[in-house]
Amino acid sequence: MNLPPQAAPNACRVAVLVDAPQHSGLSTALDYLADQPLPVGSLVRVPLGARELLGLVWEGEAPLPEPDAPPLTLRPVSAVLDAIPPLGAAWRALLVFAAGYYQRAAGELALSVLPPQLREVSPAQLQAKLKKLHKARVTVPTEATAPRPELTAAQQQALAPVLAALQAGQAPPPFLLWGLTGSGKTELYLRAAEVALAQGRQVLVLVPEINLTPQLEARFAQRFAGVAMATLHSALTPAQRLQHWLAAHLGHARLVLGTRLAIFASLPELGLIVVDEEHDPSYKQQDGARYSARDLAVYRARLEQVPVVLGSATPALESWAHAQAGRYQRLDLAERMGGGALPQVRLFDMNRLPRQPGVTTALSPALVEALRLRHARGEQSLLFLNRRGYAPVLHCDQCNWKSDCPHCSAHQVFHKADRTLRCHHCGVSQRVPRACPSCGNADIAPLGRGTEQLEEQLEALLPGARVARIDADTTRLKGALHAQLHAVHEGEVDVLVGTQMVTKGHDFRRITLVAAINPDSALFSSDFRAPERLFSLLMQAAGRAGRDAAQAARSEMWVQTWYPAHAVYQALRQHDFAAFAQAQLTEREAAGLPPYAHLALLRAEGRDVAAVRAFLLAAQAQADALAQQFGAEVLVYPPVPLPVARVANVERLQMLMEAPQRGALQRLLRAWLPQLQALKRQHRGVLRWAVDVDPLAI
Ligand code: ADP
Ligand code: ZN
Ligand code: ZN
Repeated sequence: MNLPPQAAPNACRVAVLVDAPQHSGLSTALDYLADQPLPVGSLVRVPLGARELLGLVWEGEAPLPEPDAPPLTLRPVSAVLDAIPPLGAAWRALLVFAAGYYQRAAGELALSVLPPQLREVSPAQLQAKLKKLHKARVTVPTEATAPRPELTAAQQQALAPVLAALQAGQAPPPFLLWGLTGSGKTELYLRAAEVALAQGRQVLVLVPEINLTPQLEARFAQRFAGVAMATLHSALTPAQRLQHWLAAHLGHARLVLGTRLAIFASLPELGLIVVDEEHDPSYKQQDGARYSARDLAVYRARLEQVPVVLGSATPALESWAHAQAGRYQRLDLAERMGGGALPQVRLFDMNRLPRQPGVTTALSPALVEALRLRHARGEQSLLFLNRRGYAPVLHCDQCNWKSDCPHCSAHQVFHKADRTLRCHHCGVSQRVPRACPSCGNADIAPLGRGTEQLEEQLEALLPGARVARIDADTTRLKGALHAQLHAVHEGEVDVLVGTQMVTKGHDFRRITLVAAINPDSALFSSDFRAPERLFSLLMQAAGRAGRDAAQAARSEMWVQTWYPAHAVYQALRQHDFAAFAQAQLTEREAAGLPPYAHLALLRAEGRDVAAVRAFLLAAQAQADALAQQFGAEVLVYPPVPLPVARVANVERLQMLMEAPQRGALQRLLRAWLPQLQALKRQHRGVLRWAVDVDPLAI
């Protein structure tokens, strides 16, 4: 409906959230006039300055204290999108919690998680669309094609508490479903979803990556005939995203599958949340409101009194610690389906290789032999190396020139296929110079290796083998990844080379050899989560092999390492996540790291490193003073540069805060943020700053 520009005499005041970032100071709702009360959660359009913005009605409406004076200062709401029912109380509570916890303005967060197209559509357009919404284009499979297998005893046992919780209709503790790749976790998601759907509830399933949605979507579609499904992720067109969002909000879509942003889907009849691969770092948003969709899923489940199932072969250590402490209920699936065993892990000690000056191959002769054997038997192999390009740097050994990026504190990576040097941080690209730009030496050489070089070496070492590469370079075009994976499935590839992209989720049945070429760097990373990530990556990669019982017996995972005795690899050799987790948790406890401490980061950036540092030092003084004032146990560390300090000529620094109690840290942040905003205004050299609560990397 369109409101008249002149407010009616019986007008009332409505509070409206708009997309104003915290930093602008507009962190609370703004007041507008409406000629009738508007339900909280209604979407409206409101004027702000010269613009008209999408807004969300917040709080209750209040009568104007004096009928004639205030209308002069308050502007009327321009329009109400009343074709869309108001967002519900549970959704709003989730939003309030997330905004508070991650220290963002509620309006900014609200408007960033609603479909962007809502900002553009007029009420009239919406009116027309909704009419169409009854046939909202969400998938409705007509015929279930996949058989519904009998559950194994282990599956029944794991599922029972989830079903009991669904039937009891109350929030149990979160379930942590711990099971190897191929142990039947997805089947349990399907069974739990089946019950929730039969109860007339909506089901939300989160996956870490867009690439994994079609696979899971197909699995659900094959099981549930006649159930409307919607997907929510960032690769949808704005129109699709609006349509799917509305389908969920209106209750038409019963099953919603999506990436992290789907945690904010409006689901008025939510009955179950599943978070697949709950340990995956992709669940953490890395800009704007830096929320963890996994953590919000746990919060939302408690808020809405519904069960949440977190599934993983290598749970996040936070989740594992919760389960150890009895706060989460662990459900175990110890065996792989169909008797598929995990491959035998072979740690190949690179120190054993004779050193031959001038000869560099990424592959030990023993591994090459193992690859030949696979090829001869018609089996597939998968090699991964977490570095794309041909070589991470070009080098001149006469003057020591290196292909540094002029704009970043990083090397430019050598890409042989198109003879370019490319910076993976700022994207700048140039032709490979013919000679050393510094001394003219014509003999500049690549140092180290990436997937492109590995592919080249494999082609030379395994004549006749069909080698394919999957990484960010080969999958840039839409549909490319899908086509390449399809080729692997169809057996058109003998050896697949890739970055960690290839280790995730794809079910390659013919692979009997998986090899990690050089994973050691993670062992010595300054990031305290690096060992956890490495273990999970290697376990996941191992899970790619031997999914067929017949092949399992001769499946192997090779790790080429200079540190075969390292605890991470020893635990991997035993496939012993529990032992690994215990050892890591003991270390974390001793070091005062999560989950035994709670962290927040303040990051700031600008062109001049001194200006950024000055801002952070002043911020540190503020935080210290607040900690004193509250008597809070919050430790504030001095500012340090990020691991890649300069990107695109912008200097980046960060400051870490650590507290044994989450509450103490939250209290401090809440009091500190307004001070920081004021401080920023005094420090013009700072381009941007942001607070990251529960950061993944420090
Ligand atoms: P995960 O999600 O742990 O990787 P899945 O649920 O995908 O495991 O199960 C692995 C394979 O075993 C799939 O092909 C699945 O269809 C099959 N499967 C799962 N449960 C059963 C069962 N009870 N009986 C027969 N096959 C099953
Ligand atoms: Zn030189
Ligand atoms: Zn750069």
